[in-house]
Amino acid sequence: MVARSTADVEDAVRRAHEAGQRVKALGSGHSFNTIAVTDGVALNVRNLSGIESLVPEPDGTVLVGLGAGTRLHEVGPALWSLGLAMRNMGDIDAQTLSGALSTGTHGTGSAFTGLTDQIAGMTIVTADGTAVRCDPTTEPELFAAARLGLGALGVVTTIVLRCVPAFLLEAVEGPGRLDPVLENWEQDRTANDHYEFYWFPHTDQVHTKRNRRLSVEGDASPGWRAAAARFAGRIGKETLENGVFEVINRVVTRVPRMIPSVNRLSASVAGSTSHSVGRSYRMFVTPRRVRFREMEYAVPVERIPDLLRELSQWFGQTDYRTAFPVEVRCAAADDIWLSTAFGRPTGYVAVHEYYRREADDYFRAFEAMARAMGGRPHWGKVHHRTAEDLAPSYPHFEDFRRVRNRWDPDRVFDNSYLRRVLG
Ligand SMILES: Cc1cc2nc3c(=O)[nH]c(=O)nc-3n(C[C@H](O)[C@H](O)[C@H](O)COP(=O)(O)OP(=O)(O)OC[C@H]3O[C@@H](n4cnc5c(N)ncnc54)[C@H](O)[C@@H]3O)c2cc1C
Repeated sequence: MVARSTADVEDAVRRAHEAGQRVKALGSGHSFNTIAVTDGVALNVRNLSGIESLVPEPDGTVLVGLGAGTRLHEVGPALWSLGLAMRNMGDIDAQTLSGALSTGTHGTGSAFTGLTDQIAGMTIVTADGTAVRCDPTTEPELFAAARLGLGALGVVTTIVLRCVPAFLLEAVEGPGRLDPVLENWEQDRTANDHYEFYWFPHTDQVHTKRNRRLSVEGDASPGWRAAAARFAGRIGKETLENGVFEVINRVVTRVPRMIPSVNRLSASVAGSTSHSVGRSYRMFVTPRRVRFREMEYAVPVERIPDLLRELSQWFGQTDYRTAFPVEVRCAAADDIWLSTAFGRPTGYVAVHEYYRREADDYFRAFEAMARAMGGRPHWGKVHHRTAEDLAPSYPHFEDFRRVRNRWDPDRVFDNSYLRRVLG
């Protein structure tokens, strides 16, 4: 069913509740697990889109009300035209605002929290079909739970984002070696505004990416030299992210023993140095056209070198081969109840596999290592955790369940994934 207004959502939820059906809001379907699957009414909120309100704050930020179904790739240009930007973003922009926020989508940057921490308020249609406005002072408990709500508390119709003045990002990408990159992890993640790296399994090669925030008034032109370097870098990026990478994966799916040499080749092509400058919402994201599955774990940030070394050892002890790089990012601690970065500076490690290849052994082995280090799984990606073993990882897990019991006692927004992770 397609909703065109908050009133439509209220009506749909009320009818479903009365009929004893469940409801699930649809995002853009970019989660890697069954969090968005329903056996009840699938509610398309795509038309709840665009900017609805603007409120300047004394600290220079602006509170921007947006329809929950707005795609992130629509948010960036709309904010830019107002001289504004999202403070941080993940690495794609295909998601809906509400879908990305409901699963705790994050980017990278030791001084920056995930996307959910940018929410200043929201309107959510709860189980009885009533739209409730919540923020830190109005219905604060509902707000505390619903800003990273896994779709469990209602259908979000409006999200208020705290936006910052528009800024540019300067990106410097280049090759590295795993050991020195791990030794310098602490230094590199704190010295750069946004730092991440990709490690090519079965090799010691990595590709690092450093983003620096620049004001729009600053020098936005990288000059012809940088433009040339950017062009050279594009060839490498295209290899790493798309294009021939699809072909590579088709080939190695049939002949996995080729993977180590293919990875060395990918690393050397992708590893060329590049420099570029651009609008933040363009620079944060990269096109991803190769289909894959992904598991991502959040661990205390200082455990990243241990986790990567253990994973590297595991590859040395098994026959499993993957052509997909392992992605490593970081984030500041936050106070959001179900955030993977709750209460601790966080490092993220994501493992991927081509969708046609069986990855269960790989993902389960990685999950065991990350879990032993206090890892928390990304809510929108592959994982095998249950409410029982997730609860100790989240000091406010019981608070979340209490708020859920209050606002959705009949489990109108339930599905099999939520039964597994929330009980
Ligand atoms: C290629 C790729 C790259 C990715 N990169 C990153 C990354 O850089 N960082 C990161 O953290 N994650 C990343 N992800 C994961 C992705 O951000 C999350 O899975 C996100 O939830 C997907 O958003 P969506 O709009 O597709 O939501 P869906 O997957 O469609 O839905 C997710 C959940 O949100 C709920 N939901 C959606 N709309 C509403 C609403 N209006 N009200 C209530 N609940 C709602 C759904 O019911 C569901 O429970 C990536 C995924 C892919 C496929």
